[in-house]
Amino acid sequence: MASITLDSISKHFSDGDETVVAVDELDLTIEDGDFVVLVGPSGCGKTTTLRCIAGLESVTEGEIRLQGEEMTNKLPENRDVAMVFQSYALYPHMTVRENMSFGLKYSTDLSDQEIEEKVQNAVEMMGIDDLLDRKPEDLSGGQQQRVALGRAIVRNPEAFLMDEPLSNLDAKLRAEMRTYLQQLQEDIGVTTVYVTHDQTEAMTMGDKIAILNDGELQQYGTPAECYHEPQNTFVAEFLGEPAINLLEMELDGSTLTADYFEHEFQSTVDTQGSYTDVIVGIRPEELLLSTEEPTDTTSFEGTVSVVEHLGKESNIYVEIDGTDTELTVIVDGDPSTAEGDTVTVHIPEDAIHVFDGRTGEAIKNAEHRGDAPRTSSPQRSNSAS
Ligand code: ATP
Repeated sequence: MASITLDSISKHFSDGDETVVAVDELDLTIEDGDFVVLVGPSGCGKTTTLRCIAGLESVTEGEIRLQGEEMTNKLPENRDVAMVFQSYALYPHMTVRENMSFGLKYSTDLSDQEIEEKVQNAVEMMGIDDLLDRKPEDLSGGQQQRVALGRAIVRNPEAFLMDEPLSNLDAKLRAEMRTYLQQLQEDIGVTTVYVTHDQTEAMTMGDKIAILNDGELQQYGTPAECYHEPQNTFVAEFLGEPAINLLEMELDGSTLTADYFEHEFQSTVDTQGSYTDVIVGIRPEELLLSTEEPTDTTSFEGTVSVVEHLGKESNIYVEIDGTDTELTVIVDGDPSTAEGDTVTVHIPEDAIHVFDGRTGEAIKNAEHRGDAPRTSSPQRSNSAS
């Protein structure tokens, strides 16, 4: 087990006359034993970062260290990390036993018996000990993925590097394997770097998540930190389904205004300037709906455009009256509200994120977190639901 340090690494590819900056001065420290997820949209540089750690790509600039020891220019086989790919990459003509022991036979001087013991331990841990004599074509996708993981485990590496390892599985199996992988990683405690474009996977699996965009690190923290304290609008929008509502407003000292809304914060918001165009972010689960008329300037009327019933909760889309702005509101259960209804939306003060309108950087994050009781809301229930 080891920590992994990426010290300002960059990776440039040349594409004809153009240079593609796949990874841009990325700094990241992955602590010993941590499960870190690299997440971001397609093309943001996740796989390239992982391949640089594995040594399958050379870095253009910067340094990579494993447990403090520089490995920037080491060959992949000298890096003591094990990679697990989306495609499983099993040898089709070999049995499970042969697939799992192959690497050990050719890259270590372990005896046949020692290799057999390692393989046996791994297959028992993975619950695939009855499959040892099968070939990959006779295994389900989930079983193949377990063999690929088992093959990484027998090597007893300092770190696992996983590139979208679950994306070929169906939704149910993916959810099962997610839990299984987390448990496995916790049991064996190996530092793991896991790449996915799926924010749910990132939020549920990572001790920490690193959110990338255009090769640049946007935020690195626990899932809860990144969700509740996004450092910019990109992170705020990337995490959360349905996405956070982002509204253009103006902030003058401590007063936030839009045509339909006005709120005075209890203290001046530090904007490093007296007057700012801002973007206000409110998570859909934080907005409050009611059928009563607005009672103050933090509530306003809107018209329901769509209701999505999901069973446990519903997504209600509300067009703010007199604007072309649509808000998403999540309410518990099945609301009686229907398309075309007029509803009142209330924005609680402690749910408001404020971002700089020019740079998108966070100026102020919301104080309210998920299930915690509200401290500053005059309207406490989603009475429209
Ligand atoms: P995805 O989720 O789609 O796999 P990603 O976040 O893993 O995307 P990368 O595969 O790391 O992204 O690619 C980052 C950028 O580098 C992209 O613009 C990609 O086109 C470019 N890139 C990656 N590999 C090469 C290459 N060998 N030659 C040229 N450009 C490349």
